[in-house]
Amino acid sequence: MSELKIEKIDVFQVDLPYSGGVYRLSGGREYRSFDATIVRITTQNGLEGWGESTPFGSTYIASHALGVRAGIAEIAQSLIGLDPRRVDRVNDAMDNALLGHLHAKTALDVACWDLFGKSVGLPVCELLGGRTDVQMPVISSIYMGDPDDMRRRVAEHRQLGYLAHSVKIGDEPAIDAARIAASLADKRPGEFFIVDANGGMTVETALRMLRLLPAGLDFVLEAPCATWRECMSLRRRTDVPIIFDELATDDAAIAQLVSDDAAEGIGLKISKNGGLTRGRRHRDISVAAGYTVSVQETTGSDIAFAAIVHLGQTVPEKNLRCVLECRDIVATKTADGDFTVRNGRVTAPTAPGLGITPRLDVLGDPVASYF
Ligand SMILES: [Mg+2]
Repeated sequence: MSELKIEKIDVFQVDLPYSGGVYRLSGGREYRSFDATIVRITTQNGLEGWGESTPFGSTYIASHALGVRAGIAEIAQSLIGLDPRRVDRVNDAMDNALLGHLHAKTALDVACWDLFGKSVGLPVCELLGGRTDVQMPVISSIYMGDPDDMRRRVAEHRQLGYLAHSVKIGDEPAIDAARIAASLADKRPGEFFIVDANGGMTVETALRMLRLLPAGLDFVLEAPCATWRECMSLRRRTDVPIIFDELATDDAAIAQLVSDDAAEGIGLKISKNGGLTRGRRHRDISVAAGYTVSVQETTGSDIAFAAIVHLGQTVPEKNLRCVLECRDIVATKTADGDFTVRNGRVTAPTAPGLGITPRLDVLGDPVASYF
């Protein structure tokens, strides 16, 4: 193969205001804007690869925006001169430069996959194993609020074509039960509901909430409690399908999940799980375990969505739950590409790499460059 070497890494910062005003999660957490880090890797022959990492504030998981950029500063120099197509070796170099901090490694890893695709004229999904012919359903993100208001917001997203909804809870048992009942009140055949507590319940409040629900509601319960032990304790005492998200992060956690028979599926968020190279591995372990996978991001703009769509497009249909329409969450557009959602479904484009063209006027000047 002809030579390809990383010559320069540029880092951009973009504010992404939340499109719906104030986003509320369990535990009194509120989010108004998200701080995106976008990376451009340039090779010695002038090819450019792009990646994004946008944490959901600093209280969702152990990641934050300044940490992304500090982590990249720690790593970047060790990638200069490497072949970006050797994605596992690039990740070895990142791990040798900095332990953990998967959110910082993600933008760099995704940019390498974009370069890989452009260098061989193939979309990233083909390099990740090959595209399925699945028209992937996109999932909404319905923040925690008044039950009737949540019912209205689900209806709005249904109107826009969404077939799947992530409904946020994690408060007092009676109001959480009311939120679920209201959100599912108009459920149509073919629709899917993830009820997501974002680790906000104790085992006690979760068990009380489940007992208050009317019978026959069809949903899965995501991230009920903050710790592994609590989730396992709850699991032993309910037959509600459980999905892990915040606790399903690195290789060891995914392996432990299978070993403990702790869940029926995972939320595979690309920057939480460390990029497409690690995400590919988590996809494969999940498929082997018979899990469902929702391919998502903590949040992000068009570049993050492109990575979601390419990885999602490689998950077998029976294992793919949905992909997160993270662009719906943020008010800023950072790139263009063929990622139109039609009737609540999306497929990966055929252009090489991620298939995106960044809006350089939105990105502005780099905040850091490494070469
Ligand atoms: Mg979640």
